[in-house]
Amino acid sequence: MADTIFKKIIDREIPADIVYEDQQCLAFKDINPQAPIHLLIIPKKEIATVNDIEAADAAVVGHLFYVAAKLAKELGVADDGYRTVINCNKHGGQEVYHLHVHLLAGKPLGWPPYAP
Ligand code: 5GP
Repeated sequence: MADTIFKKIIDREIPADIVYEDQQCLAFKDINPQAPIHLLIIPKKEIATVNDIEAADAAVVGHLFYVAAKLAKELGVADDGYRTVINCNKHGGQEVYHLHVHLLAGKPLGWPPYAP
């Protein structure tokens, strides 16, 4: 399997605007922002989709949300609120098959995502 774009960002093979990094994860600005603040928080471990999360991944997946909230607080948007999203597969709108949490903030966000 070829490396995903996000694996290449982890390995510094392609550039990204990285805002946070620790042993387990990386956070960087989305290249095509859908809100005034749009970050992606990704595990360094390669997990393709939510469907591929194993029991042993529970801590790292939880850590992604801990980091999302930490960044939201640091960016001053925690009290107004924000959205965390993980898209899964085709109907979920997933484009990059390396697990990632979208952190969207900075303005009131639309909901729901589906209009029958
Ligand atoms: P998905 O649709 O898989 O949930 O989200 C993938 C996200 O990755 C999209 O919001 C897209 O704009 C972003 N993205 C795709 N390629 C790149 C890239 O090379 N760099 C950055 N920073 N974001 C990317």
